[in-house]
Amino acid sequence: MKYVYNFGNGKADGTAADKDLLGGKGANLAEMTNLNIPVPPGFTITTEVCAYYMQRSRYPEDLATQIEQSLKGLETIMDQGFGNPQNPLLVSVRSGARTSMPGMMETVLNVGLTTDTIPGLIAMTGNERFVYDAYRRLITMYSDVVMEKSAGIEPEEGKGIREQLDHIMDQMKSEKGYTSDTEMSASDLKILCGLFREKVKDVLGKVFPDDANEQLWGGITAVFKSWNGKRAISYRRIESIPDHWGTAVNVQTMVFGNMGDDSATGVAFTRNPANGEKQFYGEWLPNAQGEDVVAGIRTPNCLNSSTRSEEDIRLPGLDEYMPENYDTLNSIQEKLEAHYSDMQDIEFTIQKGKLWMLQTRAGKRTGTAAIRMAVEMVAEGLIDEKTAVLRVRPDQLDEVMHPMVDPEAEKHSRVLAKGLPAGPGGGVGQIVFSADEAESWHEMGRKVILVRNETSPEDVHGMNAAEAILTAKGGMTSHAALVARGWGKCCIVGCSSLTINASERKLTADGIALKEGDWLSLNGTTGKVYEGKLPLIVPDIESNLYFTTLMKMADKIRGLKIRTNADSPGDARLARSFGAEGIGLCRTEHMFFNPERIISMRKMILSGNETERRAAVMKLLPYQRDDFYGILKEMAPLAVTIRLLDPPLHEFLPQTREQIEELANDLDVTIGDIQKRIDNLHELNPMLGHRGCRLGIAYPEITEMQARAIFEATIQLIEEGENPMPEVMVPLVGTVAELSNQKKIITGTADSVMEEHGIRFDYLVGTMIELPRACLTADEIAREADFFSFGTNDLTQTTYGFSRDDIGNFLPKYLNDKILSHDPFQSIDQKGVGELVKIAVQKGRSQKPELKIGICGEHGGDPESIAFFHTAGLNYVSCSPFRVPIARLAAAQAVLKQ
Ligand code: PEP
Ligand code: MG
Repeated sequence: MKYVYNFGNGKADGTAADKDLLGGKGANLAEMTNLNIPVPPGFTITTEVCAYYMQRSRYPEDLATQIEQSLKGLETIMDQGFGNPQNPLLVSVRSGARTSMPGMMETVLNVGLTTDTIPGLIAMTGNERFVYDAYRRLITMYSDVVMEKSAGIEPEEGKGIREQLDHIMDQMKSEKGYTSDTEMSASDLKILCGLFREKVKDVLGKVFPDDANEQLWGGITAVFKSWNGKRAISYRRIESIPDHWGTAVNVQTMVFGNMGDDSATGVAFTRNPANGEKQFYGEWLPNAQGEDVVAGIRTPNCLNSSTRSEEDIRLPGLDEYMPENYDTLNSIQEKLEAHYSDMQDIEFTIQKGKLWMLQTRAGKRTGTAAIRMAVEMVAEGLIDEKTAVLRVRPDQLDEVMHPMVDPEAEKHSRVLAKGLPAGPGGGVGQIVFSADEAESWHEMGRKVILVRNETSPEDVHGMNAAEAILTAKGGMTSHAALVARGWGKCCIVGCSSLTINASERKLTADGIALKEGDWLSLNGTTGKVYEGKLPLIVPDIESNLYFTTLMKMADKIRGLKIRTNADSPGDARLARSFGAEGIGLCRTEHMFFNPERIISMRKMILSGNETERRAAVMKLLPYQRDDFYGILKEMAPLAVTIRLLDPPLHEFLPQTREQIEELANDLDVTIGDIQKRIDNLHELNPMLGHRGCRLGIAYPEITEMQARAIFEATIQLIEEGENPMPEVMVPLVGTVAELSNQKKIITGTADSVMEEHGIRFDYLVGTMIELPRACLTADEIAREADFFSFGTNDLTQTTYGFSRDDIGNFLPKYLNDKILSHDPFQSIDQKGVGELVKIAVQKGRSQKPELKIGICGEHGGDPESIAFFHTAGLNYVSCSPFRVPIARLAAAQAVLKQ
């Protein structure tokens, strides 16, 4: 079995198609090699080896031989020897999973430097300082990654080996009066390396390995193990990446960006990943090694003068500093983007004037950027519309509809600080200084801004919990900026005027001192930071041409119609502006809670006989007519599905002593009478109690009043020249007899209203399908129904027997122990609940082949569920207004992915 894939000298064993086996990085290194792009030669150890090692804690038998052979191949290409004292080859050992997990796993550079090979490398390079600098980096990385993390050692906060070594270096620098690393001489670094090795032995109880092969295997194993490191696991949970994928390991000849002023290293994007603009965009550092840019320790230079921001005005672009290398890089980036037909995120190193490519991958981008790139690439002829529609994740649309800081409020606020706009949108929250804090505050329901000195991948869980992220150091391409951007999170980095004291939980900016819990507002689109709590507003997406173009592309492809759940004219208008094609669910219950109305409702419930009850209910008629008039008018001529009253009656009863007294006075009964009635109505299981159509059956006046209100509003609109389309929906039907009972009242009322006004109108009567029995008897029910609408909230509740209100008590445990793979109230349980849906569709249409079927539970806005409903043959999904565009895109993707 082949475990190791080589690349180098214009020839590679793998291609870009081998991502599952070689990981994204390995597959693309192979592809670039095949494209004749200068890539340092190396080899990739497959993800299968990772899986093997995870299961058995040992490697497959012939792995060692295959690695040995590949290493020999490398030595031949490079004309160097791994561990050879005269002419030593150095390698990097890096992770690379199927999809990129920026900074979540480990890397060891400069592997192969030992006391034996150091003199050889000095002789080869004539640069003693460089060699000891490389050596101290190797000791730091190796002891941190291999000897500490991978060994499962969890040091106390601030006591990790890396921090202890950094401390020694800082101490030395301050003793010598140096301010930057570059002032350290060769002999300083040589002494430092000695101190480092002693410290490693002291702290970790083991000698730093002085054998090239031992270093290599230590590195490989540590990278494989980092697949199950804390960071990688949290990232996988958040991104839903399966645990069994594993990472590949890439062993690659080292090239050095820190060999002097003719060397450099950088990271770039073929288009701007924050806003999507077609401009070559990136960051670089002269005389630095790869990780310096992405680790966010130094704020790097920008790549070219055309993308320079106010912050780095002093620093030269690569186009000025090394124009020839820049031109080569520029033509490579163009070639890569055209080859992959997608925006690429590339890493490069210039060693003594020669450019090397270390990585290319599809770049992570904000939602704003994803939409713009997809649309512009179609216009450029790079991709077709179908590809464009698949390029944007439905949840990324959230971001362009996502609130931003109100520009009016910004005008009147003082800018506290300004940094790099790494992730757009607005973020308002309370300051916290650690990721753990961010997570725990978030769990308490608070909105937080995570403020850090530098962005670190260790912080993913806190970054995820925060509204926004703010850092003092780091650039646009730092790992954390990349991750934040991938999530569409507001993020500002490199805000150098901030002074952060995390241990005292304080920060100062522009002379203002702030502490933990103080409010900050961030504009991630401009990089501006404000003190206090600025209002957020919803952007006008209709004027966003990229967005509307993408939506049009999606609309051409999708089969499902998209309706909205709305119960006010305002929501109806908003949803219509987002592209809703009707209302799939208008809940009527909240309409009764208005103080003027609730009293009539309570009187109705407490009435002793039908006459009193009818009198009380009919008081509500004018209000309801107004409600329905507004909504039907807003949506006309599109359909509006109005659901009859659903919740348990006791929800409407008076709660407080004063409310009970008031009602007793009004009804001229005693408080005791009312209390008795309340006690009578008390239910142990109200969700399975007197609710849904059971109300309309017990109190037909309610159904009659609601039907009359709907139809009178319809007539009024027709008289005004509108074309309303009401659909009356009966909730919680379990037997056809329930529906027949209610339908009779509804059609009877319709006939009366038509006769009274001498006007005819169209309407439908349908039912919610939200109980298992309704699904199983859907053929009978269909005979009475003009349409079905799945209430997947109740259907999930009654299929699992999980209370939708109480699942929170045990869901975390269920998810953690993998008893459930996801929350079934968010994404439809396709196996169980989905099976009932399919049965109901099949049975319903067996009676009425053209039966209109929709879904109006929360799942109507969930992309995965939408794909399922598409396959199940539904006509429409209905979701909250803000999810309408998401549903439009998801419905189109469902067609393309089917
Ligand atoms: C449902 O049960 O899915 C539904 C839409 O109704 P409600 O959430 O109001 O019970
Ligand atoms: Mg329901």
